[in-house]
Amino acid sequence: MNKESISGLILAGGRGTRMGHVDKGLQPFGGSTMVANVLARLQPQVATLAINANQNLDTYAAFGVPVWPDDTPGFAGPLAGLEAGLRRCATSYLLTAPCDSPFLPADLAERLYAGLQSQDADLALAVTEENGRRQPHPVFCLLKTSLLPVLSEYLAGGGRRMDGWYGQIKVAEVLFEDADAFRNINTLDELHSLDTARPPRLADVVSCLSAYDPDALPVRDAQRIIKEFVQPVRATEQVALRAALGRVLAQDIVSPIDVPAHDNSAMDGYALRGSDLRSDADTRLQVVGTAYAGRAFDGVPQAGQCVRIMTGAVMPAGCDSVVPQEFVGEDGDAILMAPGTIRPGDNRRLAGEDLKAGSAALRKGKVLRPADLGLLASLGVAEAPVRRRLRVAFFSTGDELRSIGQPLDQGCVYDSNRYTIYGMLQRLGCDLIDMGVVRDDPQALESALREACENADAIITSGGVSVGAADYTRTIMARLGDVTFWKIGMRPGRPLAFGRIHSNGRSAFLFGLPGNPVAVMVSFYFFARDALLRMMGAEAPLALLKARSAAPIRKKPGRTEYQRGILSRGADGLPEVRITGAQGSGILRSMCEANCMVVLDDAQGNVAAGDMVEVLMFDGLV
Ligand code: AMP
Ligand code: MG
Repeated sequence: MNKESISGLILAGGRGTRMGHVDKGLQPFGGSTMVANVLARLQPQVATLAINANQNLDTYAAFGVPVWPDDTPGFAGPLAGLEAGLRRCATSYLLTAPCDSPFLPADLAERLYAGLQSQDADLALAVTEENGRRQPHPVFCLLKTSLLPVLSEYLAGGGRRMDGWYGQIKVAEVLFEDADAFRNINTLDELHSLDTARPPRLADVVSCLSAYDPDALPVRDAQRIIKEFVQPVRATEQVALRAALGRVLAQDIVSPIDVPAHDNSAMDGYALRGSDLRSDADTRLQVVGTAYAGRAFDGVPQAGQCVRIMTGAVMPAGCDSVVPQEFVGEDGDAILMAPGTIRPGDNRRLAGEDLKAGSAALRKGKVLRPADLGLLASLGVAEAPVRRRLRVAFFSTGDELRSIGQPLDQGCVYDSNRYTIYGMLQRLGCDLIDMGVVRDDPQALESALREACENADAIITSGGVSVGAADYTRTIMARLGDVTFWKIGMRPGRPLAFGRIHSNGRSAFLFGLPGNPVAVMVSFYFFARDALLRMMGAEAPLALLKARSAAPIRKKPGRTEYQRGILSRGADGLPEVRITGAQGSGILRSMCEANCMVVLDDAQGNVAAGDMVEVLMFDGLV
């Protein structure tokens, strides 16, 4: 496509009736106005741009592009704007888009042009498919400038409808995957809600980085882009307490009661009044009763009296201290203790010391662990509000892969990645869709990606994203949505595809992990894991520990290295880490033998024996 042959026209000539007669294009959006967003998205696709508007002409002109009002009077609809554009356009083609479509595709011109050429048409328009129905978007079109006389004649004859005009020319339909990209904004409410909940685009996220090179991307930049791009699933459900283990809490849990509800004893012993304790001589107290856990003493001990008490029993009225039974002597119905045995207030648990009524017991976003189940139970909470499980589809790609049970033909390997990925996803608590092995074949890959996209929130693939891999993996991923391909400054695991793809009105985040068995795990842990947790509504950053390196480690500065290590206790009792043998990215055994990964960041050079290094322990990793 020669972009010099295309002029762009933004259609802003309507009355804005549905928006309460405000001028749609001038409504604030994304920090500027709607029309400014459309301008920015169209600019790179065309030679020149103009705006068709019938009111606020000076305001539109301030965007620095020509403003052309309709020639046909009386707000005659988009065709009148199109006519105004065709009349003044100096190139062979005109591309139109409405002023209220701030998400329009970055390849709108290119794909409409390709469609127009391949179908030898006069006009190409965008269509999307939603729930199996084709939805045309006639105001997103590319047409030949030579159509002006046909259009003028149609308008002069009173014609106003798009489909009426289409009857007189040859129209090509071009299918776009991302239905959201064509979403126009019709009401002020819609505008406001979209402005706050607008899904980001990779290009916008990436533009926040000062220097961005997809072919030499530092690990932390990739992590940051992924983190900003993914969106949490919002749906929640109420589940029984035991079923909440490992799930993500969806709301703060406020304690309805004080825990414990009463002051109680922390020891088996005698409850007494602190004011009875003598510092100059033995204290002698008469035992007047017993308090059991769950069966309180309901009398009121007087000065000089005490109550035998069990751990957890409610403190008798007026008593504020407990002396453990092993510290006292018994003398008939009295006890004796030496001065200084306890201080007033000792061994008493205060009401609400664990949790006060009305305070937040657990914060939303927490991945619930055994202690949390216990805490919720201590509040009498029977069910917990949790985020719905994340649905993750995964498959392996490669003609050389065989599934377990199949004969291993010459040159083939068993598909191991699907099992490591299964394990890692299972630990995160996702709902899994195992889609098996997908051949290195464009059609097979496209249909697998589409199926995954229509059924899952996220897709994890392995293989096919490296430079040597068949080109169409990247082409197909890119065609299905907003996907980028990185070479990350790391070892192992340099190639990574990341983005969001669309199919039939559904979308899913895509992580195209490398094929090598160690690389796939490293990329999962350091990129996909955090992103999936974020989608689940959880915050659980990887906890790196410091340990002493037992031996020197060779390391080149300028990239992050993940070496498999074994952490153990050194001769002095302090933790010490040693690298496992061969570190090749295909040697899965290195992961099995290791109990941790040594993370050597970009700045790090060679490590000397005794230097401290960062490690990620495998145990405890969700
Ligand atoms: P690729 O990224 O597709 O070029 O694959 C890189 C290397 O990883 C090749 O040696 C593949 O055979 C290997 N590989 C890819 N996928 C898998 C898998 N699912 N299981 C085991 N090895 C794999
Ligand atoms: Mg492959």
